[in-house]
Amino acid sequence: MSEVNLNIETGTKQRGFIQCAELEDGSPVIIPYFIVRGVSKKPVLLLNAAIHGEELNGIEVINRVFEKINPMELHGTIIGVPVVNTPAFRARNRLDPIDGKNLNRVFPGEKNGTTTERIAYYFFNKFVKKATFGIDLHTGSKGHLLVPHPRIRTLDDFTPVLEYPRALGTEFIFQSKGEKGMLNIEAGKIGIPIVCFEIGVAGILDEYYIKAGLKGVMNFMKYFGMIKGIPEIPKQQVLLKDYQEIVSQIGGLFYPRVKAGDVVKKNQLLGVTKSPFTGEKHYVRAPDDCYIVGIRSQPVVRQGTAVVWLMTFEKGNILPPLRKNDLKNLSSKMVTQTREKGIKITE
Ligand SMILES: [Zn+2]
Repeated sequence: MSEVNLNIETGTKQRGFIQCAELEDGSPVIIPYFIVRGVSKKPVLLLNAAIHGEELNGIEVINRVFEKINPMELHGTIIGVPVVNTPAFRARNRLDPIDGKNLNRVFPGEKNGTTTERIAYYFFNKFVKKATFGIDLHTGSKGHLLVPHPRIRTLDDFTPVLEYPRALGTEFIFQSKGEKGMLNIEAGKIGIPIVCFEIGVAGILDEYYIKAGLKGVMNFMKYFGMIKGIPEIPKQQVLLKDYQEIVSQIGGLFYPRVKAGDVVKKNQLLGVTKSPFTGEKHYVRAPDDCYIVGIRSQPVVRQGTAVVWLMTFEKGNILPPLRKNDLKNLSSKMVTQTREKGIKITE
């Protein structure tokens, strides 16, 4: 059970799993997967979720792709891996609590390493290397709600191609400096573009974010000709690069005053932390004109807990339209809001 066979019959779906490590009691650590084989073999799209075990929305996105796709109407192959990090998933945790390693920092993995390093090794070698491209579904951690968006990372001389994250059809693309061992960095370096796609918050299944995730995946497949249909992509997609975390200055309960996805002006009130112990209040204000990427959704905070995640427009820019003929161009809520508020984004 350690080989992933893509050569199944044309127009069929199949489920399987591979074994990648052994636990204390001899039980195996497995990676479950499915294959949907369309009328042609290529391209091969890898869809995976739960590299962090508590990030659930992507699991349901992948379930729905499996149920929804008619293989006779698919060009190419889909490999779906709904849960990559099964020990962390079992523990309802971000990481495997026993080895404590972050799976998204140890790619391409280690064949003789710890459980997490072995999962990375098998996932990278048995799945990622078979793919033409992929979408790696994530959410924010517990209490860290993220508006749907792709994250691209640069490292040293590695810069990802923007067309892949743009094909999801979100209003903005998040760019930051990555770290060694991240899936999108390590796969990108060997020429396999994997788009990290953030949808919502860990620990719950949320229909709004599941639908946004599914829409992104479908847009991507339409854009690259795997399924019929016209992808819906905003005419003006914005690339943002200046990411900031704002922390609470006191402990207590945090009351947000904005939502993830809002455009806000400099000094605008973003939220208040109130201490039920001292009565003290701390007002969190926008450091600049910015876009709210994420907001704390679990109210109990300590001094230093991040409560707002934002990106300024300063280092951002509106990307030139995608060079593709049939796109359903939507207007961008973000761009409209910035114009209404008199905020300029470089074109
Ligand atoms: Zn994650």
